[in-house]
Amino acid sequence: MIVRSHAPRSTIRLFVVQALVALVPVLLLFAVLAATFRTEANRRGLAEGRSEAVLLARTAVEPSLDGRPLGMGLSPTEKAGFQQLAANAMGRDLLRLRLRNLQGQVVFSGDGSGFGQTPEPAALAATRGNTVVLLTHLNADGDNSGPVGPQAVEVYLPLRAGTPDQRVGVLEVYLPYGPINADVSTGLSSLRNVLTIGLALLYLALLAISWQVGKRLRRQVRLNAFLAEYDPLTELPNRTLFLRQVTHALGAGERQRPGVAVAIVDLDRFKEVNDTLGHHNGDLLLKVIANRLRGAIGPDDFVARLGGDEFGLVIGGSEVEQTLGRLRTLINEEVEIVGLPLSVESSFGFVVAPEDGTDADELLQRADVAMYVAKATHAGVVRYRPEQHGGEPGDLSLMAELRHAIGADELVLHYQPKAAVFDGRIEAVEALVRWQHPTRGLLYPDSFLPLAEQTDLMDLLTPWVLGAALTQIRDMGALGADLTVAVNVSGRNLSRSEFAKQVIAVIEDIGLTPDRLIVEITETALVTDPHRAAAVLIELASAGIRISIDDFGQGQTSLGYLPELPIYELKIDKSFVFDMLDNKAHASIVRSVIDLGHNLSYRVVAEGVETEEILDALRVAGCDVAQGYLLARPMPMDQLGPWLAQATSATTATTVSVN
Ligand code: C2E
Ligand code: MG
Ligand code: MG
Repeated sequence: MIVRSHAPRSTIRLFVVQALVALVPVLLLFAVLAATFRTEANRRGLAEGRSEAVLLARTAVEPSLDGRPLGMGLSPTEKAGFQQLAANAMGRDLLRLRLRNLQGQVVFSGDGSGFGQTPEPAALAATRGNTVVLLTHLNADGDNSGPVGPQAVEVYLPLRAGTPDQRVGVLEVYLPYGPINADVSTGLSSLRNVLTIGLALLYLALLAISWQVGKRLRRQVRLNAFLAEYDPLTELPNRTLFLRQVTHALGAGERQRPGVAVAIVDLDRFKEVNDTLGHHNGDLLLKVIANRLRGAIGPDDFVARLGGDEFGLVIGGSEVEQTLGRLRTLINEEVEIVGLPLSVESSFGFVVAPEDGTDADELLQRADVAMYVAKATHAGVVRYRPEQHGGEPGDLSLMAELRHAIGADELVLHYQPKAAVFDGRIEAVEALVRWQHPTRGLLYPDSFLPLAEQTDLMDLLTPWVLGAALTQIRDMGALGADLTVAVNVSGRNLSRSEFAKQVIAVIEDIGLTPDRLIVEITETALVTDPHRAAAVLIELASAGIRISIDDFGQGQTSLGYLPELPIYELKIDKSFVFDMLDNKAHASIVRSVIDLGHNLSYRVVAEGVETEEILDALRVAGCDVAQGYLLARPMPMDQLGPWLAQATSATTATTVSVN
């Protein structure tokens, strides 16, 4: 039941439109060519008419003249000659033959027409020595009478005679245009035919090209449409189409489909497959899993690849949890990749609408929370419960506000120094985030971080803290020149395989060396997906960034796992440090952790150092670094500079007095 964004266009219709559009310039060209041919034919016709008239004048008319101007009248011999000429030629070769005097008046007319009429301008032009050739019809001129006759070439030609040669009058002849036209057109018609065929072929070629281009364009459009909504590797719908599908499945109002489940599936330890077998084989595995899921869901269900090793499902029916359990088993089934039998575990988080929500975004976010719980607790398939979110009804709106706060620079960093127990030298400062909330005032991390931890907000918050802390330390100048900054990183960040690259890029961008950064990870953050976390930590450490295990003693890290990680320091959880003077068990734990750390070549930090007595006890136990209210409370950047200046001079003074 895939929801498509648009229907495919009719290929034929598109082609017909293109064909019609291409026809317009071809027809225009044809019309221009036809007009050019017509003009050229007329031009040639007139030239031929003129030549015939000149021939007639030079060979038949002028030799018969005695040299006197025609205005003086024709001699009987002349008159008889012209009558004979007219009788021979009129009708066949000539339509009309007239002679005019130098005033333009008709003095001889083969058909008796034109006597006594006012001469037309063309006749007068000829009396002045110009030859005028016109395409006209017989009797079409103003000075003619009688019915309009066939098309003709009308020529007015000055006549010359006598010695010396002088203008004596004008010859006016009408030559039938039909034979001239036939003659001229024969010459042009083969050229016209070639051009017409050429144009037709050009049009066909245009059609063929537009068909080809159209076909390629349509293929590209189909491909683009596919890539916009599908994942090219698995050919499953992508996140965009999945979101639309979830919205569609939820319907609205009365159309709402009851009992629709939305699940988010994440593969466990997929990064390891990629790292050990290569990305190509990782891709093969994803394809196999995608095919299994596609083949196993019902006709009304939907599966998508949301990115990386994450899949989304929309499932109907009453036994959702069992169905998802079956799909999980299916994913887990062994698959052979490059000859190796492989099986991947997966974590499923799901919600059921409308019980767990009615809005697509909200449902997906909740399914994601449940998936994260499934991963953290290795529970397989987990349905969302509000407690997973922290439980408070206002939590979701607080998360929306936090998302905005990160972009709007409402977050601030306070810094708490870490000092060497031996000589009090300040080794580093820890950046601790606070939220300057517009209405609630300054919020501490425990009121918003646990929530952010459940959502993708951590992917925005940690880069912000990293960027801000490193920039502020760089901008401290000489006072901060040797200072290292510690930034807390959540387990959620470590579950992103690209996290290490992101951190390295930030530090490079800011222009500090990697040894100026310590990444603090709580021990509990390591248990969610230890393999993926270890891979990220190894990548960070290889780049020169130091790793610190925070709140050590609180979590359940298997001690054997520690040497596998590139650890620089252990921070003993403050709950053991606070009361180590009154609580013998805690004092033993503190001493044991210090020994353990030293045996594994780590530096050991005690946090929560509030009194001189505790500091003395830590010194005796051999602890390396102390952090706590005794030394300083976390403070904003503008107080850190003066504090460091004063602390440095105090340390120097102490060192001098010891010496
Ligand atoms: P943490 O990393 O263990 O940080 C030390 C916490 O102990 C800080 O609380 C600090 O103010 C407090 N502390 C330090 N010395 C003393 C002391 O002598 N006595 C007492 N009672 N407390 C002391 P804060 O700032 O409220 O942070 C709480 C936790 O929130 C941090 O614990 C850390 O896990 C987390 N956190 C803070 N900032 C960030 C951050 O930017 N990103 C992440 N992911 N977590 C953060
Ligand atoms: Mg910390
Ligand atoms: Mg801590």
